[in-house]
Amino acid sequence: MTEPLRPMAQANRISNLLRIVLGDQRFPVQADQVALEYSRQCFPTSPVDKVDGQDLDGFEGMLAVNKARSKWLILYNSAVTSQGRQRFTIAHELGHYLLHRHQQDQFQCGHDDIETGERNKKDIETEADQFASTLLMPLDDFGKQIHGHPVGFDLLGHCADRYGVSLTAAALRWIEIADKRAILVASRDDHMLWAKSNEAAFKSGAFFATRKRTIELPRDALAHSDNGSTTTQSQLLQAKAWFPREPSHVELTEMTKVAGNYNYTLTMLLMPDAEWRQPQHDDEEPEEDTFDRFTNNGQFPDRK
Ligand SMILES: [Zn+2]
Repeated sequence: MTEPLRPMAQANRISNLLRIVLGDQRFPVQADQVALEYSRQCFPTSPVDKVDGQDLDGFEGMLAVNKARSKWLILYNSAVTSQGRQRFTIAHELGHYLLHRHQQDQFQCGHDDIETGERNKKDIETEADQFASTLLMPLDDFGKQIHGHPVGFDLLGHCADRYGVSLTAAALRWIEIADKRAILVASRDDHMLWAKSNEAAFKSGAFFATRKRTIELPRDALAHSDNGSTTTQSQLLQAKAWFPREPSHVELTEMTKVAGNYNYTLTMLLMPDAEWRQPQHDDEEPEEDTFDRFTNNGQFPDRK
């Protein structure tokens, strides 16, 4: 291969192989086995030689090559008890191996690098996450799971189980392919940890620049401690409670779920299509969004 494939193309290539070999039995994707087998077959002179769990102080995952550059090692943090999180981390490191190993000899990936919706810009951590997400939750199968079902954390929980990933990873995947405006917010102590808007929401100005400033949850938000409860909830409310620029008559559906393993709350915001076309946040427009890359790569799925 002369030209390195982009993250989603790399993942789709492996997905197709798994479908041919394993058929319906391919989920959850065994990321460790894939890393060992695929690298051994495609890159026999410098494969991933070992995938191992260790107590990595301060890291979630690591990819490193030996001195002779003849083999690579993937480590994941065994102190993280969530199997879904471990699977995603291994897939993320495999992404670095396939996409970036000619750039660096070692990758150390912290908690903030993996499985968050925080980034919109192109960097190697975003690419590794895109690879992992696509490999573990291929769009064609994901679409079949959600088609015809009401969206909610129950449905996303089903997807998380099927793919062996965290609820957060499944929810991030869902908003990518949602056909309405959708935003996922992770919060703790009434403040946003990160937020991710899909393309439709982003282009209408419905996003939060959580990397630029600390943002408090709206007082009306279910996840706000003033309304505190730890069970799954949903409510319909004026969109302007979250996004002041939305017209008064626009409502949004808000759903919350405590992501037990991580000690934070997930909030999903679902909104109708935007009614205007002019983005009002030109000054805050980040670089190309994850979602744009789907469409630019021609890989955005047909909606059925
Ligand atoms: Zn990484």
